[in-house]
Amino acid sequence: MAIRKIAQIGHPVLRQRAREVTRDELASPAIQQFIDDLIETMRDASGAGLAAIQVYEPIRICAIEVNQNPRYPYKPPIPLTVLVNPVLTPVGDETFDNYEGCLSVPNLRGVVARATHLHVRAWDRHGDAIDEVVHGLKAGTYQHEVDHLDGKLFVDRVTDPRTLTTWTEFERYHKDAFVERVTALVNRVGS
Ligand code: ZN
Repeated sequence: MAIRKIAQIGHPVLRQRAREVTRDELASPAIQQFIDDLIETMRDASGAGLAAIQVYEPIRICAIEVNQNPRYPYKPPIPLTVLVNPVLTPVGDETFDNYEGCLSVPNLRGVVARATHLHVRAWDRHGDAIDEVVHGLKAGTYQHEVDHLDGKLFVDRVTDPRTLTTWTEFERYHKDAFVERVTALVNRVGS
């Protein structure tokens, strides 16, 4: 396994639309090795998720995992999940305001409206079907990662630029109110 370099905002790869992966490709040792690298890189950087495009591979694969994450201590755990060719569909029209950050956008967070309830269809790393409805912060994480596969970054979706903050100023001025709001959300929708 190897830790890969993470592309930073401004690099054109982050603005590409990643291409679908075929079943044969997914079964190949090269892609399976790549998925191991993606997971290792995500964990090394304390990311809640990482899309292949962020490590310069414009293919539709992302990894998600939350487990006592020091960058996001308020996030409920998400077991390691690899999504291949994911398709997301909002369920209903409820949204919530998520304070997001990104390993490709250094030292910046901002508020993005995300669907609260989300239907997820994808393959896992073995090509088996994932078909589930996710909620709340978990749904927000999925939407952030799948945006990457379409060349989008969270800053594109920040509707009020006055919410932009460094991580230090987030801790100082925004965290308490945000954690209070998302705790209420987690208590209501379960994640
Ligand atoms: Zn990101």
